[in-house]
Amino acid sequence: AEKISIGELHLSGCTGCLVTLADNYEGLFKLLDDYADLVYALTLVDVRHVPEMDVCLVEGSCCLNDKISVEELKEARAKSKVLVAYGACAAYGNITRFCRGGQWNQPGHEAFVPISEVVDVDLYIPSCPPCPQQVRNVAVMAYLLLRGNDEQKNLATAYLTPLMQLAQRGNEACGCDLMYDVINQGLCMGCGTCAGTCPVHAITMEYGKPNVNRDLCIKCGACYAQCPRSWFNFDVMNNYEGIMDAIKGAMQ
Ligand code: SF4
Ligand code: SF4
Ligand code: SF4
Repeated sequence: AEKISIGELHLSGCTGCLVTLADNYEGLFKLLDDYADLVYALTLVDVRHVPEMDVCLVEGSCCLNDKISVEELKEARAKSKVLVAYGACAAYGNITRFCRGGQWNQPGHEAFVPISEVVDVDLYIPSCPPCPQQVRNVAVMAYLLLRGNDEQKNLATAYLTPLMQLAQRGNEACGCDLMYDVINQGLCMGCGTCAGTCPVHAITMEYGKPNVNRDLCIKCGACYAQCPRSWFNFDVMNNYEGIMDAIKGAMQ
């Protein structure tokens, strides 16, 4: 079947998400051989204007002081079927929430917002950066959703739905969301990633579970974006074997 087209729009991010995409090694070759054409990406594709594409991965938050970024983001939205907030900066602002102007190279820039403040977003791939396999899986699942048979479409929907729900949920996330959505739901596996990721040390691990000090939390969303269980929830778990078989089959 016909491949799908994928692009990466680089806004205010550290390029770590792009490196993750390229870090797929053999997975990336297989992806590009069989499933997807990379039609737009910083340094990887020599195309200067945003083209039409099936899936656009947007890396980084959007600087409202930078007209070119705002226009590019709107253009990418208009020209893509599925727009993805790729990584924690695009989804929640992440470290760019700390930008308050006065940066040495761009002193006028101070307003960095999650991309959903500017355009509608279909799906989030959280984490900073997302792991290479997750990006590959989303690309394969997007392909199966757009080009697969009915069974493959169903599995792709089960895999992608929690990521779409993250996008619908909005671009604010705080330690309380981690409490309500993950810990209170019995989804926490005590990995400690949230505690390690919190920039203000508002989370400590106690008896193997995270404890959030709400007075310290600055609502940066980093913990929620990083927590593997904020999206890998019961919808995915219930279809786990079928989903993994579909991805494995696609990558053989
Ligand atoms: Fe860099 Fe992390 Fe932001 Fe991706 S999410 S652009 S890796 S800081
Ligand atoms: Fe950010 Fe920490 Fe609050 Fe989580 S608990 S939103 S990482 S400040
Ligand atoms: Fe639990 Fe998520 Fe924190 Fe891991 S990152 S300890 S799963 S809340």
